[in-house]
Amino acid sequence: MTQLINADLHCHSIVSDGTLTPEALALRAKANGVELWALTDHDEIGGQDRAIEAARRAGLSYLTGAEISVTFAGTTVHIVGLGMDHTHPALLNGLRATRGGREMRARAMSDDLLARAGIPGVYEGALKYVDNPELISRTHFARYLVEAGVCKDTNEVFRKFIVEGKPGFVPHRWASLRDAVGWITDSGGVAIIAHPGRYKLTANEEYALFTEFKTLGGQGVEVMTGAHGQADYVKYAEYCQEFDLAASRGSDFHSPEESHTDLGKLPPLPGSVTPVWALLDSRIQ
Ligand code: AMP
Ligand code: MN
Ligand code: MN
Ligand code: MN
Repeated sequence: MTQLINADLHCHSIVSDGTLTPEALALRAKANGVELWALTDHDEIGGQDRAIEAARRAGLSYLTGAEISVTFAGTTVHIVGLGMDHTHPALLNGLRATRGGREMRARAMSDDLLARAGIPGVYEGALKYVDNPELISRTHFARYLVEAGVCKDTNEVFRKFIVEGKPGFVPHRWASLRDAVGWITDSGGVAIIAHPGRYKLTANEEYALFTEFKTLGGQGVEVMTGAHGQADYVKYAEYCQEFDLAASRGSDFHSPEESHTDLGKLPPLPGSVTPVWALLDSRIQ
């Protein structure tokens, strides 16, 4: 597969915090010109069988996927895995454990923090937006707080309430980088640092992330993502050379109403990098 193929290897369905079904995402990807697609729900592979079947029907090439939440240097970092055997026990158990703390975190956000800040019933409200009971996300809180008229859009909810330092934020310990990369590679996949331009890491911490990731067997980094601007495209294409990593491309599409980058609509990868799909030829279905 060539550099210029329209690959979109990062998006979310109702199985995590997206608003479309795997079937609707496959049709939207196809309509937008995507040729190679991956559904990468947060900490969850429960949508993979539906995505595989929907991709087949739509005539899309497909890679299995997940986006794993990791705690690194006290910050949440996301690692995308592509091409895993999504029935592998190590992956299934690891993801189940990673999902495990979400329910308690959600109750604490609602009952210990937001209710005391004068906004009651947020847990119950957020649940209306949750399809997978094991995957209650801050995004579901944001959708409810918009519905309740507390903020005008989900971005404002994050900014004012549910990021570090704000009144509804509960710190959480996710998987370790070692575990997440291990689950992905042990199940036959390729591990990728998602949207590196989004993290609040110092230059030293970011260097440590890339160095450690590489040592642990990580093989890729998202260069083209909805969260990056032009300067990030250039910076992380250079990191591909520096750390000998392949480059990925994925919109991180969640919802037609909320996402500013639609499936398949990012610019192509720069010519200087090796696309991650060159490493995954045998895993494409
Ligand atoms: P969680 O895994 O529950 O902590 O939720 C993380 C999700 O929240 C991310 O995957 C994004 O979809 C969403 N998110 C995080 N930060 C923001 C933000 N500043 N604005 C909008 N959505 C965000
Ligand atoms: Mn999300
Ligand atoms: Mn992410
Ligand atoms: Mn994502």
